[in-house]
Formats: sequence, C-alpha cells, structure tokens
Amino acid sequence: MNTQIKSDPTVFVIFGGTGDLNMRKLAPALYNLYLDGWMPKQFSIIGTGRTKYTDEQYRQTLLDGINQFSRSGKADPVKWKAFSESVYYQSSDVKDHESYKEFGTRIEKHAADWKTKPNVIYYMAVSPNFFPIIASNLSKAKLTQDTKRVRVVIEKPFGHDLESAKELNQLLANIFDECQIYRIDHYLGKETVQNIMAFRFANSLFEPLWNRNYIEHVQISVTEQLGMGERGDYYDGSGALRDMIQNHLLQLLCLVAMETPINWESDEVRNRKVEVLRAMRPFTADDVRNSTVRGQYAKGWMEGKEVPGYREEAKVDPQSNTETFAAIKFFVDNWRWQGVPFYLRTGKRLHQSASVITIQFRDVPHKVFPSETSESWAQNRLIISIQPEMSIRLQVQAKRPGLDMILNPVDMVFDYKGTYSNQTPEAYETLLLDTMMGDQTLFMRGDQVESAWELVMPILNTWQNKKSLSFPNYSADSWGPESAEALIARDGFHWFTLPLTSKK
Ligand code: NAD
Repeated sequence: MNTQIKSDPTVFVIFGGTGDLNMRKLAPALYNLYLDGWMPKQFSIIGTGRTKYTDEQYRQTLLDGINQFSRSGKADPVKWKAFSESVYYQSSDVKDHESYKEFGTRIEKHAADWKTKPNVIYYMAVSPNFFPIIASNLSKAKLTQDTKRVRVVIEKPFGHDLESAKELNQLLANIFDECQIYRIDHYLGKETVQNIMAFRFANSLFEPLWNRNYIEHVQISVTEQLGMGERGDYYDGSGALRDMIQNHLLQLLCLVAMETPINWESDEVRNRKVEVLRAMRPFTADDVRNSTVRGQYAKGWMEGKEVPGYREEAKVDPQSNTETFAAIKFFVDNWRWQGVPFYLRTGKRLHQSASVITIQFRDVPHKVFPSETSESWAQNRLIISIQPEMSIRLQVQAKRPGLDMILNPVDMVFDYKGTYSNQTPEAYETLLLDTMMGDQTLFMRGDQVESAWELVMPILNTWQNKKSLSFPNYSADSWGPESAEALIARDGFHWFTLPLTSKK
C-alpha cells in the first residue's frame, strides 16, 4: 500500500535482464513509476543476462520494449534520456560466482556517489532452476547480509510441487530473513484484486452478508483464448493446476474467503489469508474423482483461424498428459463457509479471455411475486471482473418500466473506466513499488505457498500417475470439457460466462 512517499535510493539488479518478462513488464513498469514520480531521486537499474551488450545497446533494447508494451505508449525522448542514464548492463552467467563481485563493486560505487547506503533489490526474472544458484552466489559474495536494505524478488513458479517449494523455502531461509523475500504473484498487484479487500473491509454493507447464511456458492474463472505460443516446453512440464490454480486462483479465493484483518499490517493480512488455506478441505481419492475435472484442447477454429491441438503445439510432447484446463470444487471448513462450494476453473484456448469472480447469494426465502412477473429471475450476484473489464457489479432484481409488473435482473455497476479518468497502473508497477517501500502485504509468505501446494498435491499426484484416456477432450473456442459442466450441474448450478447469462 503506497502513499506518495518515495523510497530510499534503490539499486535494482535484474537477473534475466534481457528476457521476455523484463522487456514486456518490468522495464515498462519501472519507467512508468519514474514518469509518475514514484522512483526515488537516486536509483539504478542493472540488467544482467548472457547476451553481450554495452550499456547503450541495452538501453536501446529496453526502449524498444517500452515503446511496444508500456501502458503510457511510446517513450518521451527527453524523459527517456533522463531515465535511461540510470540504466546499466552487466553481461554474466548466473553460475559464474566471480561476476557477483562486480555487482558488489557497482553497488558500492552508487553508495559512494549517493553518500548513503541504498536499498538493493535482486529480481530473479530467470528460469526457476537458477533461483537457488543466484541466491547462493549472492550469499557467497556477501551481498545479502543487510536485512533492512537487501531484498530478493522471486518470480513464479515457486516450486514444482510441495517438496521442491519446501526445499526452495529452506534454501532461501538459510540466506535471507523472511522480511527480505518477495515471492511474486502478479495477480495480487492488479487493481481489481486489491479492490476486493477495499470492497469487503471498507464498506459495512457486504460483511454481514459475507457468509454461508447468505452466500450460496462462489465461482472463480480465469479463462484464456491463447494457446501455447512459445511456452510449450515450460507449460508441458507444468499444466493448468500448477500454472494457475495453485497460485493465482487460490490467492483470489483467499481474498474472498479471508476473515477481516485487525489492521493493514502485512503479516496480519497474510495471516488471515493463510488461515483460509489451512481451513480448506483436503482432497481424498474420492474427492479427486468427484470434485475435479481436467481437460486438454483439441485442434479447432478460433476467430476464423485454424489452431492446432495442444499435442500438435511446438515443443509439446505429442503424447502429452498435461492438462490445459482444470475445474475444481473446493470447500473451506470453518464457521463462515461451511457447506459453501467454491468452484475454480481455468483453461487455455477457451471461448473468451476473462478473469471473473462471481459470488452468488441465496435466493429469497419466499417469492412474493407470481412466477409470470419474473421473466428471467436471477439470484443476487456480486460479479468482480478483474480482466479485461475492470468492474464490480451487483446484480439485483428490479421492476421493468411499464404498466405491467415485470421483474428482471439489472446491474449496479462500479466501472473503473467510467469512474476514474486516470490510467490504472499495471500490477508490476504496484509490486515493484512495494518492494522499494519494503511492503510485503501483496507478496506470498513461505507458509502460504506451502499450504497452497499441500492442498493441490493429491490432485496433482493422481493426475500425474493416471494418464487421462479422454485427452484431448475439448475443442478450441469452447468453454472446456463437458465434464466441467457436469461437475457444477450436479449441484444445481452452471458456470457463469461473460457476457453473463442468467439461466438460473
Ligand atoms: P526468458 O527465457 O525470456 O528470459 C530468460 C533470461 O534469463 C534471459 O535474460 C537470459 O539471458 C537469462 N539467462 C538464461 N540463462 C542464463 C544464465 N546461465 N546466466 C545468466 N542469465 C541467463 O524468460 P522470461 O519469460 O523472461 O521468464 C523469466 C522468469 O519469469 C521465469 O521464471 C518465468 O516463469 C517468470 N515469468 C515470466 C512471465 C512472462 O510474461 N514472461 C510471466 C510470469 C512469470
């Protein structure tokens, strides 16, 4: 959470400084923070990667990325020049521990020039198998000791399963204090996601209704039209459960289900979230059979173009058992949520790209109006659209204008675009600023990550050990396999889609 107080002088060391993430997200985010006046007066960005670049060449590649991907459009030449004077490049292999001394020398030089010890943020925008190597080499070069000023940002994926996540946590804990570790889940930096907490805890209206007495079920859908692109090799070793459910979707669930924190301290908020994960019902073998669905897309057509099936995608095993779709029913076993199902679904090559949370309230206890007055009766719903639309809608029943008494659902809408004229910052801007300010609220704590892995492990193990005989089982441009419809239909519900339909 930021106010317009600037952080202390800061040095960013970005491992993976020539990679896709830095080009598309990190560099544009830092530049936009600069444009909006959030960067400290003294800062330095040291990109590092294997490619050989001079500082000047590196600045040019970042500029190309910014011109292409920044939310503020093409860089202004004067402002870019001023910003880029603080950008440097160091070509090195992360395995070469000698090169870390060079980082130390550069940081010391900045400290001497600025006449103060800067914050130092090591950002690991590299393949996860390098996380332990970088952490160990930083430690060997004695670059991690200042627990107040030195921070490390770890990109996703954090572990491949519970065991590897524990191992990585242990390794990091041997080197860093937990207050230095920023495990990033960029979903948590999104405006609409942060607004879930504002909506719940800054209004008196919703909290009394926010429980099993008034809420019938919750749906969280994160759907994508995209297929694999260049990511086939990474994704084939991961899948929808690891790539999306274990982190992004479970984090959204935590925000919906958490208890009210006492204050906005980062540990207080994170304690409330981890309590949700600890209260979630563990999966038995029967639950995995009855409450989970996996899918893999077949070839088909999307927006008039023929697209390959998952097994035909580049760098994907033609016999792959990896799921590109998952739908899972979760329960949170505590007083607030007992018996309320949380349906989570995510997938690729689906009909639409959207991230939406829908909270469906219970029906009225007694229908006063005769059935012919309700053309399309729908229970009250709170619909939180995270992307592409950024809005919160409360769907209520209203009388249609006219002499007849006809009821139908209407939306009370809070729409970001309509309400605020200024541009919304990107999630990475929020999160990078938080790392500078030393605010860990929106980052995952070690126990949070482990609890999320623990929850999904029985599903992961079953899916891995038992090859699906039905793959591929959904066509491109659909809403996933039919069994996903059956999963929710068995409980008398249906998946809400965008634009939202009101079947029930
Ligand atoms: P990438 O393959 O585009 O970039 C990898 C970077 O690592 C390059 O800068 C390369 O020079 C560097 N590198 C590779 N081997 C090296 C070595 N031996 N020594 C020094 N540098 C080396 O990868 P990416 O897409 O930027 O992803 C980086 C990390 O961020 C991954 O963990 C990924 O899961 C995560 N991530 C990426 C995105 C994204 O949109 N690209 C989104 C979320 C998370």
